[in-house]
Amino acid sequence: MAFSACGTASPTPPPSPSPSILPTVAPLSDRPFYRLNISLDYDQGLILAQERVEFVNPTNIEITAVKFNVPPARHHGAIEIRDARITGQAKSLTFTQDKTVLTVQLAEALPAGKSISLAFNFTLRLPQQGVSWGIGGDDTARGPNSLIAGHWYIMLAPYRNGAWDTPNYFPLGDSYTESLADYEVNIIAPAGVTLAGAGFVKRNDRLWQYELLQARVFAFAASKNYKVRQSEVDGITLLHYGYPTHDVFADDVLITAERAVKLYSKLYGKYPYDKLVIVEIDRAQGQEYSGLVALGSGLYNGYSGSGSRHDLISSTAHEVAHQWWYHVVGNDQVRTPWLDEAFARMAEYRFYQTYYPQDADWWLSFYITTRNPQGAIDLPLSGYKDPPTYISAVYRRGVQFLIDLRKLMGDAAFDATMSDYYVAQSYRLASTDAFFDAVARHTDRDVSLLVRNYFENPPKLPCKISANAPDCRKLS
Ligand SMILES: [Zn+2]
Repeated sequence: MAFSACGTASPTPPPSPSPSILPTVAPLSDRPFYRLNISLDYDQGLILAQERVEFVNPTNIEITAVKFNVPPARHHGAIEIRDARITGQAKSLTFTQDKTVLTVQLAEALPAGKSISLAFNFTLRLPQQGVSWGIGGDDTARGPNSLIAGHWYIMLAPYRNGAWDTPNYFPLGDSYTESLADYEVNIIAPAGVTLAGAGFVKRNDRLWQYELLQARVFAFAASKNYKVRQSEVDGITLLHYGYPTHDVFADDVLITAERAVKLYSKLYGKYPYDKLVIVEIDRAQGQEYSGLVALGSGLYNGYSGSGSRHDLISSTAHEVAHQWWYHVVGNDQVRTPWLDEAFARMAEYRFYQTYYPQDADWWLSFYITTRNPQGAIDLPLSGYKDPPTYISAVYRRGVQFLIDLRKLMGDAAFDATMSDYYVAQSYRLASTDAFFDAVARHTDRDVSLLVRNYFENPPKLPCKISANAPDCRKLS
């Protein structure tokens, strides 16, 4: 439009200042999308990160603040969040951090159903791996031979039952809460450092580019010493990253993982990725992540190189099982940890029954019955006073409950329940009720006495499996 100095048109009023608008983005999917660009200083155990997370407002109301869980903040000073802003904007946003919970204030309201992209800059100094032989301890730390970054970044808090889920970090078990998300992770690592991460990877010299979809978490490990071995089962590539001293056992771990994948695919359902990474780390115990299993170095100690009566075999079978019970069928690991730990333990037992029937009784007696397990299986993490109490109840009595349930229902009905439950709850957050609903679809036996024996707060059971107890649930 052209201006005329002596035009006769009535003057247009000056534009009124437009209200500032929150720049929204078109969502790629209904899952959050993370892009993490990091430089890894391996020798210093330092991660310099730019994180971008795009997500749809998970509430059904307009919001002006967003909450995140920051698991590494459980160590004072481990993570320094330098900046938060709407991606591409000049101005930073205000944020506050209270222990492991980060609250970002938006400059303008985000309407229901709209998406934004937030960008963070942070520095993470990995603590030294402590020696921890119980369950618990640290999944983001460095040791003499490797480092592991498990729950290491700023994680959008799930929004559940009308609230952001930001539980206090509890130093026992897997004190994490996660939403399914898609990941693109670009890591620049020093020459000579091998990375082991989940998902599709493309490597160009020092740049490692990962893509992992529909995951609960993106984890990776790094070491200057990894020896890599691989095998294949049913079109799935299994990779073992181990220390040179344990390379001789790599085949045994891989064969165990192959068998586990085959068995669990048959018993429960399909493994969701075309790759499964198994990586040795300096932590004492194993740990599950999406598409990746970490095995503590201590698990290899004392393994003779043959036979099944060893933690290396049982733990591999256990951690692989978490790809079914944790990764695909999610659960609230803080409030209902029995739903993944007892189930992974049951898978371990089925592994022994299938591949080492002569050792199945040994497994049951060595890991479970001779330890005289005690305690209710259904408490939240905070309901157990220490790791031995937690292990005794959830890992030992938890599997006893499932074994007893299998006896009561019969093998065929129990197995049908497990595969039905797996399919029905895939990529959801399964609940104790959802499990008993599945049980009720395959039996009409009364399981209420069994449930009362193992649960401190017995759930209301479906009427069909509780002899129509007065407060039973009617299934539709
Ligand atoms: Zn486990």
